[in-house]
Amino acid sequence: MAGSETGSYHSSAPELMVSSLICKAMANHREMGKLKNMSQFDLEWLSKEYLKQNTGHTEIHDAWEKLPLSIRNDDEMKSYRLCTKHWNLPEQRVHIDGPPPQIRHCFECKKQVK
Ligand SMILES: [Zn+2]
Repeated sequence: MAGSETGSYHSSAPELMVSSLICKAMANHREMGKLKNMSQFDLEWLSKEYLKQNTGHTEIHDAWEKLPLSIRNDDEMKSYRLCTKHWNLPEQRVHIDGPPPQIRHCFECKKQVK
């Protein structure tokens, strides 16, 4: 344990409240299994890093409309949505049985991002 206290400004009440809201939101996510089952209020507290590491293939896409604007305006998070633009094309038959790939895994989308 390093245990380095960085000063008194870290122990303010609002900050404690925020971290307990974040914990509660993460607990709710574990409990409900999917982002789309969570309330918009809880979704506000999940960080980008958390979303990237703790969500399934279609979760971010399914809950997109409920996610906070800071997430929806983030280019990296946008690439975690599913590509519905290319996956129905005849030459993309590989995906026909499954859900579309996430944009970050879509070859066509990758080609366009230069
Ligand atoms: Zn694509």
